[in-house]
Amino acid sequence: MLYNSHSHFYDLNHCTIVNKSDDNVYIDSYFSIGIHPWNANKIEDNFFTVEHLAMNKKCLAIGEIGLDKLKGPDISIQKKVFESQVLLSEKLKLPVILHCVKSWNEISMIKQKLKPIQTWVYHGFNKVGILDEVIKTGLMISIGASIFTNLQLQNLLVKIPNNRLLLETDDANIDIYTIYEKVSEIKKIPLSELEVIIEENFNRIFINGKVA
Ligand SMILES: [Zn+2]
Repeated sequence: MLYNSHSHFYDLNHCTIVNKSDDNVYIDSYFSIGIHPWNANKIEDNFFTVEHLAMNKKCLAIGEIGLDKLKGPDISIQKKVFESQVLLSEKLKLPVILHCVKSWNEISMIKQKLKPIQTWVYHGFNKVGILDEVIKTGLMISIGASIFTNLQLQNLLVKIPNNRLLLETDDANIDIYTIYEKVSEIKKIPLSELEVIIEENFNRIFINGKVA
């Protein structure tokens, strides 16, 4: 079994966490739910839906949530919405799938301030300059399609401890298998071994204590 920690498409061939938009209530797969920073100005309409859907047993994470300095409403609005969803993740004991664009400083400050117990998964990680800090802060690192094109990320992949690694397809229309293949080649570990590593991480972070 292959594990995809973040996708915008349904894929019942693998164990996939589908990122639901808040208006889509059809549930047949594991999913994550949250108000994306780009939509942070629509919180009044959506927060109740998020909270309601997050209580579904197929919901494995609050996400993707976070901060984006390139898109979306003013960063002060994004911060308020992000923080309230971090508190929701703590209340419901669900990990966070984190969207972080040019906002690592703000996000790590919020983490220091709120001191969350739930795990945060840095999704679509591709900012090699902050890798050490992200590892030190205790986040899981989810690698997606940028592993094919980002040579710096390829070079630094060995520095990500095996127990911090997750894989995802995000909005790329590819099979999660191709990410597994590439990571196994770069990390020089057999595919079968990588499968065990990712399965253990996925289960530890998302499934523990939940009945499927
Ligand atoms: Zn995404």
